[in-house]
Amino acid sequence: MSEYILGLGANLGERITTLECAGAELANHPQMHLLKVSSLYETEPVGFKEQPDFINGAVLFSSDLPPKAFFRITQTLETRFGRIRNRPWGPRTLDIDILLIDSISIETERLIVPHPQLRYRRFALLPAAELAPNWVIPGSGCTVAEALADCPDSGRLECIVSQHHFLKRVREVQQWALPSISASKG
Ligand code: ADP
Ligand code: MG
Repeated sequence: MSEYILGLGANLGERITTLECAGAELANHPQMHLLKVSSLYETEPVGFKEQPDFINGAVLFSSDLPPKAFFRITQTLETRFGRIRNRPWGPRTLDIDILLIDSISIETERLIVPHPQLRYRRFALLPAAELAPNWVIPGSGCTVAEALADCPDSGRLECIVSQHHFLKRVREVQQWALPSISASKG
């Protein structure tokens, strides 16, 4: 079993609902077990500024899926939620970034872990620090909490949904999804 921290983001459509549904979809996968969720934050865009504010959060899963298979699922989910890739750092209905996996480092053409921007983004570090402040970021020698304290990003970040409420909503959406899954089986 490995532990995965995912960063979730959305700045188009029903942003909070999208993150609740994405969390529930992943949690309903038979090989992904939701352990913890962060609060949700409204954040100003970095890089390309002329776009709506984001909602960002993070989720902690355990899974026996290898990273490549896990990543394939998160990429498919982004596409299913209507994500169109037209510019890097541009607006999106759903962004799922694999921020950390255990203490491993991966560097392939499509997947880099720890996420290469993690240390520069408060909107990723702050929710990740709610989940696992003492997790050492491989290759950096510092913990998530230390990286947050050192992060130069000063973008606006406002907590708008508590951890408790986000988890409650994800669990509710998971329940709605169950009848249709069992109905289709039988
Ligand atoms: P960002 O999330 O950094 O704003 P995008 O979501 O547009 O950027 O992703 C661009 C590319 O980043 C994706 O096509 C993906 O292949 C690559 N990528 C590399 N490492 C990761 C990772 N750890 N998690 C998610 N995407 C990653
Ligand atoms: Mg991404």
